[in-house]
Amino acid sequence: MRVAIQGTRGAYSEAAARQQWPDLETISCREVSDVVAAVREGRADAGCLAIENTLVGSVTPTYDLLQHAFGEGDLHLSREILLPVHHSIMGVPGAKLERITRVLSHPVALGQCKIWLARHLPDVTLVNAWDTAGSAEIVAREKDPTQAAICSRHAADTYGLAVFDERIEDDPTNQTRFLTFTSAKAEATDGSDGIPRKTSLIVWTDHRPGMLAAVLQAFAGRGVNLTSLQSRPERSAPWTYRFYFDVEGGQNEPRLAEALEAIEALASRIVILGSYAAWQGEGAVVGPVAPRPPHLRTKPDLPMFDRRQHPEGTIVRVGDVEIGGPRPVLIAGPCSVEGEEMILRAAEGVAAAGADMLRGGAFKPRTSPYDFQGLGVKGLKFLAEARERTGLPVVTEVMSWEEVPLVARYADMLQIGARNMQNFALLRAAGRSGKPILLKRGGGATIEEWLHAAEYVLSHGNPNVVLCERGIRTFERATRHTLDLNAVAMVRERTHLPVLADPSHAAGLRSIVPALTLASLAAGAHGAIIEVHPDPDQAMSDGAQSLDIPGFARLAAQIRAMDEVTAR
Ligand code: PEP
Ligand code: MN
Repeated sequence: MRVAIQGTRGAYSEAAARQQWPDLETISCREVSDVVAAVREGRADAGCLAIENTLVGSVTPTYDLLQHAFGEGDLHLSREILLPVHHSIMGVPGAKLERITRVLSHPVALGQCKIWLARHLPDVTLVNAWDTAGSAEIVAREKDPTQAAICSRHAADTYGLAVFDERIEDDPTNQTRFLTFTSAKAEATDGSDGIPRKTSLIVWTDHRPGMLAAVLQAFAGRGVNLTSLQSRPERSAPWTYRFYFDVEGGQNEPRLAEALEAIEALASRIVILGSYAAWQGEGAVVGPVAPRPPHLRTKPDLPMFDRRQHPEGTIVRVGDVEIGGPRPVLIAGPCSVEGEEMILRAAEGVAAAGADMLRGGAFKPRTSPYDFQGLGVKGLKFLAEARERTGLPVVTEVMSWEEVPLVARYADMLQIGARNMQNFALLRAAGRSGKPILLKRGGGATIEEWLHAAEYVLSHGNPNVVLCERGIRTFERATRHTLDLNAVAMVRERTHLPVLADPSHAAGLRSIVPALTLASLAAGAHGAIIEVHPDPDQAMSDGAQSLDIPGFARLAAQIRAMDEVTAR
């Protein structure tokens, strides 16, 4: 295998290429563009280019070459290789370090050894060479004992030089990322061979608000992980930019193919550079090939929510709290987080009264746009503080898929509210969130629709779903909603997932909340989520249905006492 590299024998590019082709023959090239030309013209079978270094960032000459090299369809990216870069300093045999006056290397390598050079050779002249190994070759050829080269240990052996010191780079984590390519046709990139891939592309966007965000959302909304984003100036159009994306997945894997289709439609231009095998050796960051989306898999005979999948029932763990076991779980707290002091008072109150978890909305779905909409991010921070104080895990609502990563940073469990039960983008994102989900039943949703909403979360990779019956809309006006105990009993039969009741939203008035809580437990609920406010009449939302702290304490005591009776 003839492999073209920028640099000469003993270069880091050669060591990288050897990872893929152990018996390669090196075709030495002066510039990165010569590497591409050598493969294009058939003087080499493959090429290897350095693209990025962990200390100095992008190798810009390579970036500037990518469109021309891989946007034309005749050359194909093959693999990504990560190489630890450990520099050595060397001179002709017999030379003394004290007598060195000039140090040659590639400017990037010289920049990576500043600390060692300042300490050991503060007064030398640093000389830029075209290549690290090339500097070793020069030192060997000129036989001048006052010259030293910085390059790989391997180059010292290649050129018969003596090593003064090894591992002289400023940062031992120093690594360079290389891309190899060939003119052979690319392999399957739909994920069917199980090889984790990455895809690289260049995108140009119109100069309008939100265009770059829209490109990023095309990836994010489908759970495609971004591994690198660089921009380079567009030469012919001052102050405009091209964006280079590296994402996980092969370009024909369904989720990525769909994202690329969307970007093609919204960007002013896109060039897909190609897909290549992601590095799987030490330091690998790309996980296994993502499963195909549920609608492209064979439909299972039994839905994942079906009781027969786990007849013994599922326990969902939120911190140390087990939802779905024999002990009823009590989640308590205000409808909305109204302020720091208020949520701390509420949290301490419900914790002392025996709650297992804290609830509180930071992002609130309010019927009227003129009503209090929640404290947003501040509310999330106050909830996290309340968790620190009390040790109670926190559940809070997330209303849109874009905010799942934000809410998931602060909450222990994500609530999908009644109004969003069939927000499918949100359900899919919840499936990828890695956090347990509290899925409320929509006020007008059938049991079947509710269970299939849960199926979205389950089938997108999240087994930790807890259902919550919170009342449905009936002809009855005396209460806010009607707590559907049929549904509690029914879903216990139909699914292995835990089920909670929310008597507060069902009732709309606090006087019947205790009775509905007890009835829910009798119907088979694994616990209840109850609105509790330190001063319900002053609440900014849902005060009429909120218990005060003593009221919750009485209810909790009653439930724990009953629990002891039934446990005996
Ligand atoms: C809430 O829990 O405060 C809430 C808004 O609930 P739901 O989505 O059930 O109305
Ligand atoms: Mn509420």
